[in-house]
Amino acid sequence: MSPYEHGEVFVTDDGAETDLDLGHYERFIDENLTRRSSISSGQIYQSVINKEREGKYLGKTIQVIPHITNEIKENIYSFENTDIDVVIVELGGTIGDIEGLALVEAIRQVGLEKEEHDVAYIHVTLLPYISGSNEVKSKPTQHSVKDLQSMGIKPDILVCRADEKIPEEIKEKLALFCNVRKEDVIQNITADNLYAVPLLLEKEGLGDAVCRKLNLRKKEPDNSKWEAMINKIRKLDKEINIAIVGKYMKLQDSYLSVAESLRHGGFSNNVKVKVGFVDSGKINSENAKDILGEYDGILVPGGFGNRGIEGKIEAIKYARENNIPFLGICLGMQMAVVEFARNVLNLKDANSAEFDKNTSNPVIHIMETQKAITKKGGTMRLGSYPCKIKKNSLAYKVYKEENINERHRHRFEYNNDYKERFENEGLICSGTSPDGNLVEIVEYTKHPFFIAGQFHPEFKSRPDRPAPLFVAFVKAAKEYNQSK
Ligand code: GLN
Repeated sequence: MSPYEHGEVFVTDDGAETDLDLGHYERFIDENLTRRSSISSGQIYQSVINKEREGKYLGKTIQVIPHITNEIKENIYSFENTDIDVVIVELGGTIGDIEGLALVEAIRQVGLEKEEHDVAYIHVTLLPYISGSNEVKSKPTQHSVKDLQSMGIKPDILVCRADEKIPEEIKEKLALFCNVRKEDVIQNITADNLYAVPLLLEKEGLGDAVCRKLNLRKKEPDNSKWEAMINKIRKLDKEINIAIVGKYMKLQDSYLSVAESLRHGGFSNNVKVKVGFVDSGKINSENAKDILGEYDGILVPGGFGNRGIEGKIEAIKYARENNIPFLGICLGMQMAVVEFARNVLNLKDANSAEFDKNTSNPVIHIMETQKAITKKGGTMRLGSYPCKIKKNSLAYKVYKEENINERHRHRFEYNNDYKERFENEGLICSGTSPDGNLVEIVEYTKHPFFIAGQFHPEFKSRPDRPAPLFVAFVKAAKEYNQSK
């Protein structure tokens, strides 16, 4: 999945590689979701083809209706008879997309097969704002609803995305032309802060509208903690700058969870984190200071492929030699190991076997035992794995516990043959798999804050429960900023 096409690939505990929206769901509801929460059309088709090959359809002609639509419904109905009360099904895309037709047809059928009060259709539309005439346009919504109705679905609730406030008369117009009640036309206005959106929707009455339709007893929600968090965020006045040094800079969604996690770390340290996206392809030994000098912390995130690798290594060298707080994630950790091997251990051709198969010093490599380890998916180590932290380490100070779990998505690993040499020079392995074989965290003991993990801590960070590594990193960056 190319980050340019899809943005970040979000990884769940159980190792599913999903769309980045799922990350927002986890951040908002603070629940760990699973591979069952993300279903692609390809998976649906694959499953139907497999069933056909197994003879499950008794040789019947396979068609979009009913075979594909039944498969979609089965996925939705698979949550029945569990402890789940409400299933939220998000259909991505736009009404009218050819790709979405079977999905829309499937949820139409759900509405017929289930009790009327058990299904609510929420249609999200865009209300463009025309600045020249200072008006919000309702026409696209009218057309979209018309299309939806021609497919047999009457929306119960309209959620209207708009940059400007939607005037009452526009809401009335939408209600009339789109065949919904006025109180079910919900404004979804651009918020000053992403995390304020649920509060705005609650104020607009979305919760009431859903409860009304689903016949659910209305409980007064207690959002006080979330409100307090938003108020705190709004008051942050001190700002620090952190650089994400990566290669997918044209689409910042490629580092969505990392950027969000930095902000979460800011919330708990009472600072606003300004994230700078720095293209590693532009960094070399001469200009590292010019490009990175203004930042209070340097983060090298995950990635695949060798473009921009040397720039990442330069950025890490700059952070290490100048005592600038550094956090390496996955590829960022691997490059920190390569940088150290080259510039401290003097192994000039050290590299990751991913980028140089013939290097005489593959400090990052694929292990022989890898196949057994990657039982969760293909050749990649995917999903949550335990890590044991050494006491008396920075990692222990960060996590305050010995046994942690973090999510992974990578093929290559730290090469243990070099461990002793690294540790003798101060780059210690402070976290490993419980059996000690896989290195999960390295840190440099001769630096105020230089730490890197083979995993992705950003996937578990929540605004009100930030990931420990990000809290500590932002704290170090804040202290660095104050010491300047
Ligand atoms: N490309 C590296 C690997 O496969 C790192 C992957 C990552 O950063 N997610 O091991």
